[in-house]
This record gives sequence, structure tokens and C-alpha cells, in this order.
Amino acid sequence: MLDFSAIKAISLDLDDTLWPIWPVIARAERRLQDWLRPQAPQTADFLANEPQRQALRQQVLADMPHMEHDLRTLRTELLRRALSTHQEDTQLVQAAYEVFMSERNRVELFEDARPALDFLQSRFPLVALSNGNADLNRVGLGHYFRAGLSAQTFGVGKPDARFFHAAAQAVDVQPHEVLHIGDDAALDVVGALKAGMQAVWINRPGHAWPLREDVDESLDADAQPQTQKYLIQKHLTVSSLTELTRLWDRRP
Ligand SMILES: [Mg+2]
Repeated sequence: MLDFSAIKAISLDLDDTLWPIWPVIARAERRLQDWLRPQAPQTADFLANEPQRQALRQQVLADMPHMEHDLRTLRTELLRRALSTHQEDTQLVQAAYEVFMSERNRVELFEDARPALDFLQSRFPLVALSNGNADLNRVGLGHYFRAGLSAQTFGVGKPDARFFHAAAQAVDVQPHEVLHIGDDAALDVVGALKAGMQAVWINRPGHAWPLREDVDESLDADAQPQTQKYLIQKHLTVSSLTELTRLWDRRP
């Protein structure tokens, strides 16, 4: 259960917490291919082939493991390699990336996102904390957030504690005064707990907790099982953001 009285700021994941991300990415991939087709038809066809595209992405990742957090670099490198392999114009990379990004920022919010942001923002400073590369201003939510941190510009992403601590610092509070809200059990919940924050797991699909409850080696390999269990219990699971804001009004 959460200690509501300790909370002085909120950090929020973006993708799959405020909007569903995979339909957006699928649409952005198609838009990019359609844009490329007249000028680089072989590259467009190559990218339209999902297994081929994934294999190239894995190759790029394997060659640039230090860039794992930097989606911009990974995607532009993938585009450059695909164009180059098909002997098409590699000068198209930046414009192609922009086509992808403009579609990537056209998201459709979950129904409860805006009301929850209104509720939370009227009470606390909000910080966006994302491993993705959405642009809050282009998405139209910039005014809700005091700060927005992305792994791409920060240099490391969740679950690294430094990233969470930077979120606390951005709004001038201590990590234990932050409540982090996100959909990913490992990256958001365990990451935030390890960084000394409280955490809410937004579990819209109603999945079972995907990590071991009693002993979670990813949490703290040296801690006693009881300590780990205690840490895990410091998160709250909700099925929607509305459920969270209702709980807030009825908090003990
Ligand atoms: Mg997410």
C-alpha cells in the first residue's frame, strides 16, 4: 500500500501509460514506408517486411549496444543501412526520420489520461520519465509537466536509478517523496522501488504480476527475501488511472 502523505511529486511513464503505443508505431512505420516508396522503392519494400526489418534492427543493436537507450540513433542508423544496402539515396535519412516522428507523436490518449493529468497536476508537480522518444509538446501534453526526461537525451533509461533520481531532482524533491506511475513491472515499478521511490503499476490488461513476488533477484540480489517482499509490497496496482485518482480521494 502507498504512503500517500509522503508524496510531493509524481513521475509518469508515457507510452502505454497515457496512450497505447503499438498502434502508433505500426502506423508510423507504414507512413514512413509510403513516404519512401516513390524515392527509394526497394528500401520501402524491405522495411515493409517485418521479419527483415526486425533482423536489421537486432543487427544495429548488436553493433551499437551503447546506443540502446537512443531510439533516434538506432532508427536513423537502420534507415541509413537499409538505403545503403539497396543503393538508394542515404540523404533521405533525416527527412524519413522526421516523417516517422511526426506520426509517432500523433497519439490517441487513453480515455482516463487527461482527467487523471488534471487531477494530479492540480496537486503535484509532474515529471515525464520515458525510455521512448515522444515529444510532449507535439503530443499536446507539454503544459501538464514541469519537466520531461527521456532516456535518449539523458543517456540511460529505466530501470537505472540515476534516471529516476534525475526526475526527483528536476522538481527539487527527494526520491522517497516521488510516486512513479507506469505500465512496465520491471522498468517502472521495480526500477522506481530500487531508486527509493513509491510506485504504481498501471495494469490495464489485467495481467498477473510478471516477476517473482517473494524473491526478485532484479530488485536487490543481496537483500533478505523478507526485505524484497516488503519492497515489492510498496507498490500499488491499479487497472486504470481513474482507479488511482479515486483511491486518492479515499486515502487513509
Ligand atoms: Mg510504458
